[in-house]
Amino acid sequence: MTDPLSYLGDQLNAWRQAGTFQTLRQLQTACEPVSRFDGREVINLASNNYLGLANHPKLVEAALDATRRLGVGSGAVRTISGTMAIHMELEQKIARFKSVEACVVFQSGFAANAGTVSAILGPDDHIISDQLNHASIIDGARLSKAKIHVFPHKDVASAARILSELDGAPGRKLLISDGVFSMDGDIAPMPELTAVAERHGAIMMVDDAHASGVLGRAGRGTIDHFGLHGRVHVQVGTLSKAAGVLGGYVCGSRDLIEFLYHRARPFLFSTSHPPAVAAACIAAFEIMENEPERIEALWDNTRYFKATLASAGFDTGASETPITPILVGEAKTAHAFSRALFEEGLFATGIGYPTVPEGKARIRTIVTATHTREQLDRAVEILVRVARRMNILRAPLPAA
Ligand SMILES: *Cc1c(COP(=O)(O)O)cnc(C)c1O
Repeated sequence: MTDPLSYLGDQLNAWRQAGTFQTLRQLQTACEPVSRFDGREVINLASNNYLGLANHPKLVEAALDATRRLGVGSGAVRTISGTMAIHMELEQKIARFKSVEACVVFQSGFAANAGTVSAILGPDDHIISDQLNHASIIDGARLSKAKIHVFPHKDVASAARILSELDGAPGRKLLISDGVFSMDGDIAPMPELTAVAERHGAIMMVDDAHASGVLGRAGRGTIDHFGLHGRVHVQVGTLSKAAGVLGGYVCGSRDLIEFLYHRARPFLFSTSHPPAVAAACIAAFEIMENEPERIEALWDNTRYFKATLASAGFDTGASETPITPILVGEAKTAHAFSRALFEEGLFATGIGYPTVPEGKARIRTIVTATHTREQLDRAVEILVRVARRMNILRAPLPAA
């Protein structure tokens, strides 16, 4: 008998031969600036723990306290009996933080995007989507069965042209973009996109997963960063990155949120967060509001690290945020670079096709507020040494 799943093993072998087979590195400590993975202490530039909250004592205490008082599980989906008071408290906290009428929390940012796009649009509608939008937006768009129009990355004129062509056509239009793009670290042209959406009567939606806790006052995201309050109808954020915990949320009008309570499938058909998660998230927002120095430290480290990388001669693409890719070309090179860096004490993920286009493979680095200058200097020293050895780094240009 042949195994009907044997094609999977064949594919895995092909990946092994291509040098793109991935093993999961095991984190054996808390997520820290220097963490132990697979038995090795490494500088961790591979997490989304921007503000160092994933292991913050106040979040840990909040989670423990909620667990002791309320248990480890909510017992049901939100629409049956799994809406705990602490879930509502978190939603109200986020709504106030973002200066919007209402907020709904999902189990993850992925569920927030996929659940929202597929709930508010149907087969007669149109989605105008940046080419580099996150997979959860793409999946939500497909699930909605709406017509998907992809525009080239950050190309506002193309988005406007698509919407012009749809003027007068039946169906609703949704213009959607990541606020900060997760693989390149560049920022969406939100003011221009919002103006285009307004001109054509389209719904404007932003996915601020990597902007939450990073951009805007106290980390309120791209809407606050660009002063677009009241003009973007659907704001998605994540609780899994800068907030340090787990979850996603949608902010907008009371009607939008009530509608999602009725129709967003992950909300209706998947159990709500444990109380510990909600409690830790509430503590995270308190810290973001009360300790702006964390975000300042994140940006100080970001500027310092980018400047050091640039003077060493690395190509960091279009990045404008703490996400700094180092472009190397082929996926195989990126993965080999990442493995060699790890051996020398630095963890930065290799990313290749299909996550990024062919030929644009990179390692991705993310500095956090809690890395020290010494750690960042050591990281660059390792990057330079390994890149020279592997001929990734161009030889320094002779002085003119
Ligand atoms: C990480 C990410 C998500 C998913 O968030 P999770 O909370 O990890 O599920 C969604 N959108 C973007 C742009 C992301 O980078």
